[in-house]
Amino acid sequence: MTKKAIVWIREDLRIDNNPALSYASQNHDFVSAIYIYNNKYFDKKREAQKWWLSKSLEAFKKDLDKFNISLEIMTGDEIEIFSKIKNTDEITVYWSKVYEPSVIEKGKKIRDIFVKNEVNYKYFKGNILIEFQNILKDDGTPFKVFTPFWKNAEKRYLEQIPSKNLKIKKLNKKIILMKNLIDPKEILPKKDWYKKFEKYWSPSEDEAKKFLQRLINDKIINYGETRDYPSIDGTSKLSPFLKHGQINVETIWNKCQNIKNKGKGYRKYINELGWREFSHSLINFFPEMLKGNLRKDFDNFPWVKNEKHLKLWKNGMTGYPIVDAGMRELYETGWMHNRVRMVVGSFLVKHLRIHWSEGEKHFRNCLMDFNEANNVAQWQWVAGCGADAAPYFRIFNPILQGIKFDKDGIYTKKWVPELQNMPSDFLHKPWELEKKYQEQIKIIIGKDYPEPIVNHEKARNDALNAFQKIKKN
Ligand SMILES: Cc1cc2nc3c(=O)[nH]c(=O)nc-3n(C[C@H](O)[C@H](O)[C@H](O)COP(=O)(O)OP(=O)(O)OC[C@H]3O[C@@H](n4cnc5c(N)ncnc54)[C@H](O)[C@@H]3O)c2cc1C
Repeated sequence: MTKKAIVWIREDLRIDNNPALSYASQNHDFVSAIYIYNNKYFDKKREAQKWWLSKSLEAFKKDLDKFNISLEIMTGDEIEIFSKIKNTDEITVYWSKVYEPSVIEKGKKIRDIFVKNEVNYKYFKGNILIEFQNILKDDGTPFKVFTPFWKNAEKRYLEQIPSKNLKIKKLNKKIILMKNLIDPKEILPKKDWYKKFEKYWSPSEDEAKKFLQRLINDKIINYGETRDYPSIDGTSKLSPFLKHGQINVETIWNKCQNIKNKGKGYRKYINELGWREFSHSLINFFPEMLKGNLRKDFDNFPWVKNEKHLKLWKNGMTGYPIVDAGMRELYETGWMHNRVRMVVGSFLVKHLRIHWSEGEKHFRNCLMDFNEANNVAQWQWVAGCGADAAPYFRIFNPILQGIKFDKDGIYTKKWVPELQNMPSDFLHKPWELEKKYQEQIKIIIGKDYPEPIVNHEKARNDALNAFQKIKKN
């Protein structure tokens, strides 16, 4: 065993229940954690996450300091950096897995380099309950439908010996092993639109633990009902923490198992964790879905290219208040409520008939919780071309969705404040309010708030006709 170890940190920015870090600290005298920032994956692709990452690295550095482990942050290409480690350096490298096909591919190349250079390495399970290879149908093929997948996966997970809550050992002395280190601030996006995120989030492991406790204490009991209402703070909001590994999904699972009276809320919540597992399984067994439709019949779908509509959608200026509220929430906070994600997604792919990949790209750039598996699988679910997807012909009516899930308009008015004085009956279809009343309340549709960019009924019919075309092919 070498005296020195490197833990390559990627999506596991945490102390608790971190297998790679705890193993390294228990088996080596000197441990350094390194984070390699490769701007190829971030610039103009994941701008919001640059902020989250920068803040998280700052917090994690302080947490690691307490264990005499330094966090060395550098920019560059992972393969180039790891190629420089030689057997004579007497260093062992550890990491936890990330379940994305391109990341797995890169990991293989790095392993080959270590083998060639005779560098010791070891890797551990990543932030997932069950590794995707272990959940297959009886005939050995992967699941494409959620319910049987999760029935199988949950059972398997419950049968597994629970992993111990792994502890990090405090080391005697800190070391620095790499050169050309950068400060986490250098990762921040160039545009300072990110500054407002500070109002909404505090990215750290401590905060993740608080969010989890709040879920268990206050939210999970009613989660089954409240999770659909965007004006209620009814969901865990753990998604960005999960993405960055500030909490291990096993920790969430274990906390949920300790709930004495497991009701509907518990079941629903656990199922959502199941959807996360399912998405990871899908993109690994069907990596082609990262580039195109999982259902190939959708390759002939007559998508519309309309830059103007796409821009209005991104800017929250479609004239449909619930859609605009969601898009503005996303831009302002880097997060959007799941119900509203479904509504805005459906609007883009069905009312505007713009390809789902445009939505996927925009979400990727703006979401703090972006992860390849959930984002691609969910966009294809919304578009109807994914696994176990909502059928394309089921088209969300943005007016009825608004009325059903934000009747009093608390959410909508928060993000679309220009509709503050709109009477409730018209909030989700403000264009129907007679002109003279619009004048009275000083909200002129077309001036103070946009006219709807498409007519719901017509857009719906056009979408259904377009769908008929692929069915005939
Ligand atoms: C078009 C679209 C794009 C999405 N893109 C992403 C994405 O990039 N990253 C992401 O984490 N989620 C994505 N989701 C799923 C879901 O909206 C978010 O996970 C959820 O809103 C996060 O908030 P929360 O942590 O409060 O969720 P909770 O309701 O508290 O759920 C707990 C956890 O379960 C998982 N989860 C919940 N819903 C889903 C789901 N439908 N599919 C998969 N996992 C789920 C998440 O990890 C979440 O943190 C997307 C959904 C849609 C419709």
